[in-house]
Amino acid sequence: MQENCITIQLRLPGVKVLDVKEDRHWIEVLGQYRTEEAECPRCGRSTWQVHQWHLQQKRDARLWKKVVYLALLKRRFRCRHCRKVFMEPDPVCGARRRTTARLRDTVAGWASEATVRAVARVEGVSEGLVERSWVEKHSVVAPPRQPHVLLGLDGFCVRRPGRMWTGMWDLETGQGVAFVPEERQLSVQRMLERHASRETVRAVATDLSEPLRQAVEMALPDALIVADKFHVLAQAGRALHEVHGEKRQRGSIAWLLQRGVERLTSPERQRVTQALTKEPDLARAWALKEGLRAVYKKRRPEDAAAALENWIREAQASGLRPFQRAGATLRKWQQEVLNYWRYPITNALVEGKHNRVKTLKRRAYGYRNDRSFLLRILSLIHTD
Ligand SMILES: [Zn+2]
Repeated sequence: MQENCITIQLRLPGVKVLDVKEDRHWIEVLGQYRTEEAECPRCGRSTWQVHQWHLQQKRDARLWKKVVYLALLKRRFRCRHCRKVFMEPDPVCGARRRTTARLRDTVAGWASEATVRAVARVEGVSEGLVERSWVEKHSVVAPPRQPHVLLGLDGFCVRRPGRMWTGMWDLETGQGVAFVPEERQLSVQRMLERHASRETVRAVATDLSEPLRQAVEMALPDALIVADKFHVLAQAGRALHEVHGEKRQRGSIAWLLQRGVERLTSPERQRVTQALTKEPDLARAWALKEGLRAVYKKRRPEDAAAALENWIREAQASGLRPFQRAGATLRKWQQEVLNYWRYPITNALVEGKHNRVKTLKRRAYGYRNDRSFLLRILSLIHTD
């Protein structure tokens, strides 16, 4: 009888309560999932063979003002068909979580009305957990209708300089999936683990950022990493700008130098030619910028590979510091640049949305904290 009573009070779906201990300040519930079988994530077949038991301690939301601990007995199954060993799913807490989803949801809800510190004190959890729960609750843009296959990851700047956020996008639907107000590897990795499945994601387009690359490698080891084309080309654009060093006002020579050669009118071409004839360094820099664009015009992957290899060598031998740096960066990302010829995906679509975020940023003086700001951003992104 006690079992039913407690289960209803706790409302932990699918969990059967094996034992309850209670003290003046806390309640400890020993529980286990009811299901006898689990589906193998590799081959999809059902198995009942338990490989190992684990006891995991989780925090749950308070009950009768008492702290609730959930001691969850979890099973590691071994698939009888393909031999894969896997942990049983844990919908009550989520994979690798030390709190119940319900606790996180509760504190996230309160955090919209009270300060993070107050919520943390009342519920007896860390301020970090409250903050993370709030972001988690509010930063999932759209629950996936189908599993994600092609993803985009990119960093964008919010409010103050130096505050980078990382967005995760489904490149097939063009929808935002989730955000973290960080660009650290571990945070991005957690976001990927939570919102993308290792089994379905084939490729991820990303900025040339080492933490992002490592996050993908850890969370989605089978996915192909594609260096985002526009960030690759920006390497050369920035280097050219450094060599020339003038403002890129519309119609200025600096602006003409950045434009693709095929988009210049013939008087503009003349101006460019004149400028380049006077300065051999600038001429080399400009040719290198166009050379990198030419790599992306190659149809066959082996031609692209040869052209990129050439470009990196020329950049490094150019004697131009900014291009030597760009060459060194692309050397580190060479394989990821070439992966574009296997999955021609870019974050171009995503960048457009960020421009709207940037417009909003200029109006953002009135926002007192990142939280209300985040809501505004999400409502903007939501509209399409
Ligand atoms: Zn299996």
